[in-house]
Amino acid sequence: MSPEPVNPATASAPTPAEFRFYGPLNDFLPAVARETTVRRRLDGSPSVKDAIEAIGVPHPEVGLIVANGEPVTFAFRVRNGDRIAVFPPFRSIDLSPVIGVGPSLRPYEASFVVDGHLGRLAAYLRMCGFDTAYERRAADAELARTSADEDRILLTRDRGLLKRAIVVRGYLVRADRARDQLVEILERFDLSAAIQPFSRCLRCNGTLEPVERSSVRAEVPPRVFAEQAAFRRCAGCGAIYWRGSHHRRMDRLVQTILAELSV
Ligand SMILES: [Zn+2]
Repeated sequence: MSPEPVNPATASAPTPAEFRFYGPLNDFLPAVARETTVRRRLDGSPSVKDAIEAIGVPHPEVGLIVANGEPVTFAFRVRNGDRIAVFPPFRSIDLSPVIGVGPSLRPYEASFVVDGHLGRLAAYLRMCGFDTAYERRAADAELARTSADEDRILLTRDRGLLKRAIVVRGYLVRADRARDQLVEILERFDLSAAIQPFSRCLRCNGTLEPVERSSVRAEVPPRVFAEQAAFRRCAGCGAIYWRGSHHRRMDRLVQTILAELSV
């Protein structure tokens, strides 16, 4: 007796794993795959972290992974037939101690390391008082290392850099203009209440400390000294800051941005 005929198209092909990405994670998918189920037939059982990155989403952008209805870590092994839901970090509800895969967001301690091509954004973040490491010529390996060693959020427009294994905190900057990028970061990390304008040096990221007015007499133009009642000195490079026209322009920028955020 001959065996039953087998249809080669259906007999051995396993049911693929299904991935669904939520919210801004769709930015990383090709247009046709956004807001739909992405099916992948897996070879073996990769970690869910590797499987998600192979689809295009860098792991620092992920806040929560649910596999077959249960929250899992990045180490979870995905098999064909699994159903995986991938969420960005939640801004207002801190789920991380219980189930999230990423570190929790602590707005008042937010610190950044900014990729070399985002110099303007780095200056704006310092202007708002956020601890921001920035070296124009920093290599990718160095940026990733600084982010990991100093627990800084890595801001870049290079998704390959975010996929480096040592990067825990990171974010792909979507907007093109520096000003829009700043708004994007303030919103994404819920930072509007943590802004402290003119508390940090734009040049070196040092903190600005109030100084005795008389001690800066020799270091600022006589007219500035005569007009200004208060001065601050950078603890890093020693630069003197005062409320000049530069200050007022930036103050206006911060105020407009805050108004936009509260809409
Ligand atoms: Zn300085």
